[in-house]
Amino acid sequence: MNSHMTPEEFRRHGYAAVDWIADYMTNVADRPVVSEAAPGDVRAALPPHPPEKGEPFENLLSDLDDIILPGITHWQHPGFFGFFPANASGPAILGDLLTGGLNVVGMLWWASPAATELEEHVMDWMADLLDLPERFRSGGPGGGVIQDTASSAVLVVLLAALNRATGGRARAEGVSGRFAVYGSDQAHSALEKNVRVAGLGESAMRLVRTDPATLAMDPEHLRELIEADVRDGVLPVMVMATVGSTSTTAVDPVPRIGALCREFGIWLHIDAAFAGVAAVCPEFRWIHEGVSEFADSYCTNPHKWMLTTVGSSTLWVADRGAVIEALSILPAFLRNRATESGQVVDYRDWQIPLGRTFRALKLWAVLRWYGAEGVRAHVRHHVALAQEFALWVTDDERFELVAPHPLSLVCFRMRGADSRTERLLELLNADGRIFVSQTRVNGHLAIRFAIGATTIDTEHVATAWQVIRDLADRAGTCEMERT
Ligand code: PLP
Repeated sequence: MNSHMTPEEFRRHGYAAVDWIADYMTNVADRPVVSEAAPGDVRAALPPHPPEKGEPFENLLSDLDDIILPGITHWQHPGFFGFFPANASGPAILGDLLTGGLNVVGMLWWASPAATELEEHVMDWMADLLDLPERFRSGGPGGGVIQDTASSAVLVVLLAALNRATGGRARAEGVSGRFAVYGSDQAHSALEKNVRVAGLGESAMRLVRTDPATLAMDPEHLRELIEADVRDGVLPVMVMATVGSTSTTAVDPVPRIGALCREFGIWLHIDAAFAGVAAVCPEFRWIHEGVSEFADSYCTNPHKWMLTTVGSSTLWVADRGAVIEALSILPAFLRNRATESGQVVDYRDWQIPLGRTFRALKLWAVLRWYGAEGVRAHVRHHVALAQEFALWVTDDERFELVAPHPLSLVCFRMRGADSRTERLLELLNADGRIFVSQTRVNGHLAIRFAIGATTIDTEHVATAWQVIRDLADRAGTCEMERT
């Protein structure tokens, strides 16, 4: 029987685990990007029952190689261009390790003051970096909190918005009546899901039309929808504007949307889950136009584009009282002097669950390792690579760009029938050297090429383009054979 791992054993196995990760980082580019596992393969390789006797840690590392790695799609691979990136970095991974080492539950300031105060501080640093307004900082009426995901952030602010819109009735009595929540037809599905979770029902969801050229929300249509709702006795609760849509990184016109929200007294949430971190660079701050003036809340995920491992979604609110009023609950078993003094932040009131990890630690590690300068260089590098890639696409007459590409995502398709792009996607997926994902833009299938791997460079993008071009030849040939 294994007894607890002693600190000395931990040191030895810890070194081996860190070596394992360092080797993984070194060799990830040599692996196929996409897992070739068939459904059930991984489970079939695992014993049906848990071990009765403890095993040496070495067994776990060797199973990681033999059973787990074949079932991994390598998000850190420089040939990973799908979805949005989740780029990791050494300091973030070590931050995760240290977080586990301390393993505090930072639900209350009292439960570990440093976990809360570092988070408040790092969130103020992040607000500085992204040039977010003073009212989002801890010294003003608002403040920042790290959520696990941007989806959770939407739920938190939706509940706050609902409580505010109903004058506190939502908290006291629950929801009854008719409500409306607005997002563009390009908004992330997290909005609709949370409308359901909040008990408003799908019928509360209003999809605002987008401009076919920019794919950004049409504020005129938003006005029409709001006015119709007000006329019909439906209560507008929240508008979610997207800065960098999932499909194409479209940026909604926040100044016009914000002015409407102000006119009708509606909560404005900005979902900048992916694109927001680009605002570390002054030349990309235009994406935040209107945020300072109008936003009630704003979210971006360092765990997408800012070198931080998954579980780091930064949310700011302009009025922390609104969130606390909606979510605060203080059972007898959590009472303590610090909370009662009113001098501390208790993050349990700013999120759905009670428990939380020491979330700020890895973000602190990333910010200290890279500095603002390092984060800016990272973002600029990806944007420059994407712009170059977009030029290559434009220069090849078989392809066309389907949406603006202001940042690091390029969406394109093969000219002609969608079946060509579909065939190319099939070939790319089967080939396995690179991974891309897909979307639909103005009714057409398109390939999303999202640049974001930590170690990516021109040669990787050039190789990817070569793979795409070669397979496009085959897609074209297959198409001719079919017709
Ligand atoms: N919003 C946007 C614009 C996104 O692109 C995504 C995910 O890609 C989300 C929200 C959801 O993010 P999360 O997985 O952190 O909930």
